[in-house]
Formats: sequence, C-alpha cells, structure tokens
Amino acid sequence: MPPDEKINPRMRSSKMKKSHLFLSRPISVLVLLAFLITLPCLESMSDDGIASGMHALNAPDSLEKIDVAVFYYVPRDREPLDDWRERIDDLMVRTQKFHRREFTGQSDFQYTIHPAPFIASAASSGFPQEDANQFYWHIINEVRQSGEAQSQAGAFPIILVFSDHNFSPGYDDWTRECDGKGCLFPAPHSDCAGYVRSNGEDRPGSRCGGARSVFWPEEHIGLGLVTADGWRVPLKGSDCVVYHEGIGHSIGLPHPEPINNSVMGLAQYEDGLHKAWVDEDQKLELGWKKEPIDHTDLFSNFIVEHEPHRPIANQPVLISAAYPDRFKDGVATAEYQTGLRLPFQKLEPIAFSKKGGQCRVVWKLPPLDQGECIAYRVRLQCPDGGSESTWHYLKVR
Ligand SMILES: [Zn+2]
Repeated sequence: MPPDEKINPRMRSSKMKKSHLFLSRPISVLVLLAFLITLPCLESMSDDGIASGMHALNAPDSLEKIDVAVFYYVPRDREPLDDWRERIDDLMVRTQKFHRREFTGQSDFQYTIHPAPFIASAASSGFPQEDANQFYWHIINEVRQSGEAQSQAGAFPIILVFSDHNFSPGYDDWTRECDGKGCLFPAPHSDCAGYVRSNGEDRPGSRCGGARSVFWPEEHIGLGLVTADGWRVPLKGSDCVVYHEGIGHSIGLPHPEPINNSVMGLAQYEDGLHKAWVDEDQKLELGWKKEPIDHTDLFSNFIVEHEPHRPIANQPVLISAAYPDRFKDGVATAEYQTGLRLPFQKLEPIAFSKKGGQCRVVWKLPPLDQGECIAYRVRLQCPDGGSESTWHYLKVR
C-alpha cells in the first residue's frame, strides 16, 4: 500500500470509483501541508503582508507575474525523446492559455524551456525506490541546485520538471499494459494501473507515477514535478496534470473540498484542460477580482474526438475536429504515430462540413491490430497567426 493511501480517506470515499487514481495527488497536499504546519510563525501568513492584487495562497508573493522555468529531466542512461521540446511546449501553451482565461489577465505567466535536456546524475536504476516523496526531492533538488533555473525579477518563480522517468519501474506509459490488471512488482510499485474511462478512453496518471508539487512559502517558490506517466504520451487530460501540478499546487492551491471535477480536483479523468476550470472560491482566495470568463476563444472551442471511443481490432476509427466557423479559413491537419519514438504520419481529411456555426473536419485512421496504441495530434493554423493543437491517444484492447 503506498504511504499516501491513508492520508485522505474522505477523498477516497467521495469518489470511490476513481479513488485509486488519485493517489499521486493527495500526497502533494501532504507535502504542501507539511510545510504549512511546520512553519507556523510565517510573517507571510499575516493579512498585512498580502499583496493587494493576486497573490499565492495565504502568502504575500504576488502572482501578477509568474515565471516558470521548465526542464526536461532524463536519467543518464536514457535516450532523450527527439521531439521532447515540441511535446512540452504544446502542454505549456495550453497551460498558459488556460491560466489567462481563468484569471482574466489578472495573473499571467511566462515560461522558458531549458534549451537542452537536463541529464540526471543517476541512471534510471539509481533513484529512490521506496518512497515517492524522496523520489520527488531527489529530482527537484538536483535541478534546483544546478543553478540553471533563472527567473525574471519581480515575478513569482516556479520550477517545473517534466521527468522522463516514473517512480515505479513497472509502469510503461506507451502501451499502458498495467491498466486494470496491476503489475508484477512488489509494493510500493504494485498495482500501478493507469486509468481507462468507462467509455474506453485512456486518461493520464498512475498511482506509481510520482507526480507532485510544493508551494514553499519560506523560499517563495513553487516546485512542480510531472512524471512520465503524466505527459510523455499525450493523453486527453495530460494538460490538466501539467496545470494541476505545475501551476495550481505550485501557487498554493489545494484540492477542493469536497472534491469535484475542477482542475485542482479530478479534471484529468474527465476531459482536456479547455473544458476544466479553477473554482471561483479558490480564485477569490488568491485575490482575484471577479469578472466574466471569456469562453468564446479558439482554445475553449476546439474539440477533437475519435470514434468509436473503444475501438476493436480492424474497426475503422474516425478522428474529428470541430471549431467555430469564424475560423473557417484555418487549415486543419492531423497526424499519428504508433510508438513514442516513431515518426508521425500525416492523414488526409475525408470530409469537411459547415453546419450550425461549426466547421467539422474528419480523418480516418488505418486499421489497427489488437493491442496497438496510437497517439495522434490535430492542429488548426489560422491566417491571422493564431493556432490550436490537441494531442490524444487510443489503444485497441
Ligand atoms: Zn494534487
């Protein structure tokens, strides 16, 4: 049984069907609370010190500007992904759009992706294997102590690490073969199931992944870790994981009580980040001044799906993209890959329609074999320079 499993029984009982998937999340709150509880005399907790605009939770650190230093962290015996930067940048762009939408520009963030992979001092077998918190600190401390993370003066700094490694050695995030069956590794690496929705779609996260995050008031910094299970394979909901750990917990936001489907709750198991939200009471606690949220942008209205959700071998699978017809002059493209390190192959659209104010483009995937896994991405490039991009994944089970 993972050490975090007993820390939040209410969360488990309120959503039992998903509880086993949430185990990477409660521990991040445990770590956060550990700091808050052991530092009771913080001046930063006084109302007097709190900034008038947006600020970190119960702390004086202004969030009007956030500067995120992003790293791709690779064990030294592992070959970096060729397209790591593109995958991470896509997730960071979506995270940035979501943050701007949800906080209506009252808090903004910039991010800088470290130009080269951060090669770890340890090989993949050399990481802490008994405790996921130690695993987290091993990675975070190494990146932080390298001095490579620089932040803009006056901005709240966050270090966000996308790890190429998981806490569990038994979790393969491309084939997701552990789903629903458990894994043949001893505790705490047993039962590393990924999550498959009742409709057959995969969602990110594993209780053995190790993703977590800390807002550290004394150090005035947020420290986020997204492990490989949360981002390398582009599942619907991966962007929710990146926001949840990379920004949400890093600025002090806890899980909502009671738990819900907001981005600080279970959003990653529901849909992509464009469909998620930050609870209004959480935003107000950060000093956000209430104003209407604009859901008319392309980010909020670019809907990519595949049908059927649960394909069987040799069954045709259709990918579709729908978006408002004011973007009709945009060029939509789709491509897919059959392995994490295999090249993407372009698909030709088989249908385009305009109806009810919506454009819809359809592509057809080639027949898939039993057990085959595919990641696909759909992009819309608009003449005005705007663009949208969504990556998904499916497996024939
Ligand atoms: Zn969490």
